Amino acid sequence: MNTAIFLDRDGVIIENRSDYVRSWLDVSIYHQALQALSMLSKLPVKIFVVTNQSAVGRGIIDLETVHQINQRLLEIIIQNNGRVDGFYICPHLPSDQCNCRKPEPGLILQAANQFQIDLANSILIGDALSDIQAAQNAGILNTYLVRTGRGAEQEAMLRDSPISGCVICNDLLTASRLIITKGQL
Ligand SMILES: [Mg+2]
Ligand SMILES: [Zn+2]
Repeated sequence: MNTAIFLDRDGVIIENRSDYVRSWLDVSIYHQALQALSMLSKLPVKIFVVTNQSAVGRGIIDLETVHQINQRLLEIIIQNNGRVDGFYICPHLPSDQCNCRKPEPGLILQAANQFQIDLANSILIGDALSDIQAAQNAGILNTYLVRTGRGAEQEAMLRDSPISGCVICNDLLTASRLIITKGQL
């Protein structure tokens, strides 16, 4: 079985946009995230991006454009000595009641099935309570909330939630350094 690091995209790797990432022009990559991905890529683990993109369901962006944005993002990650082994996208609206929109675990379970991932020993890093809940719902025990994106405002909600054991870090680079120092993967 493989272990994996699951990463949210918006607010973790690129800046979050309250009015959605609609095109490549809206993409602003965190420099520290590129450094972090370079470090994480040296670990013997899979790296997946799991992202809610309800803008697709809302008709604001089409799925093909989301794929193209992820592809361009991946090229830049690779240029910076990083990798991503798979992007998993939920295109649905909250009202669709799908099983993949985080906090539902569907995206994580899709990756786990495709790559035989040992979820209990895997890690998720997100900037929202719903990311952490998705991890918990999938059986991932190790979670990190970053304060970039929506993280700073979600931190209080996380502390008020029944979720325990989530590590709070300033950003993806800080979280990655901690994971590597702890030898967690
Ligand atoms: Mg996010
Ligand atoms: Zn979905």
